[in-house]
Amino acid sequence: MSVSAGARILVVEDEPVINQAVTDRLRGQGYEVVQAWDGPGAVSQFTETAPDLVLLDVMLPGFDGHEVCRRIQAARPVPVLMLTARDDEADILVGLGVGADDYLTKPFRMRELVARVGALLRRVDRAAELANRPTTTDLGDLRVDAAARRVWVAETEVHLTPTEFDLLLCLAASPGVVLTRENLYAEVWGWPGASGTRTVDSHVKALRSKIGADRVRTVHGVGYALEPGA
Ligand code: CA
Repeated sequence: MSVSAGARILVVEDEPVINQAVTDRLRGQGYEVVQAWDGPGAVSQFTETAPDLVLLDVMLPGFDGHEVCRRIQAARPVPVLMLTARDDEADILVGLGVGADDYLTKPFRMRELVARVGALLRRVDRAAELANRPTTTDLGDLRVDAAARRVWVAETEVHLTPTEFDLLLCLAASPGVVLTRENLYAEVWGWPGASGTRTVDSHVKALRSKIGADRVRTVHGVGYALEPGA
C-alpha cells in the first residue's frame, strides 16, 4: 500500500489558530493528524504515534524546530516540512543538516501546504519503488547504489539525507547534463513550480559539502550538472 493514502501527519505549531487550521485542512484531505504545540511534546508525540510526515514550525517553546528535527531524525528517518518565518532561513535549515526536506515560508497558502505534503509523501513511495530496481552508477570515484541508497567517494562511504540522496540520484541519471532548478525541484520534490528553487540551492550546497564541491557544476541562472568524473 502506498504511504500517501491515509498517512499520519504530526503537526507541530505553537500558534493554536494556525495549528488547528492546518490540522482541519489536512483531516479534510483524508489524513490522520496528531498535534503538538512545543518541542518536548513534538518528540513524545513522534515516538508515540509514529507519523509518516512531520510539519514543523521553527520557533517553538521548550526547544526549537531544529532540535526537534535532529532528535526525531536520529530516531527514525521521516519526511519533514519546516514552517519558517523568513525565506533566508532555508539555507540555515538545510545547512545545519538537521534533516528538513522542504520548507514553507509564513504566511503560506493552505493549498500550497497540502500540495507540498502530498508531494513529500509520494516521494517516499517513489523511493521505495526505486529500491526495488537495483542499479549502481559509477562516475569517476563516485559510486551511487540506488537500491541500497548508499554513496561512496573514493571508497569512503558518505552519509546523505534522503533528500540529498534523491537529488544526487536525479543528477546522476544524466551526468554532464544541466538540469534546471525548476526541473530538479519537480523531479526530486515532486511538486512543479518555481517556489522551490531556493530549496534546491540549499540542498545542492549541502550535497556539495559531502561529496565535494567540484562534483556539482553550477550553470548560473540555469541550474546544475553532475560532473561525469575522470
Ligand atoms: Ca512558532
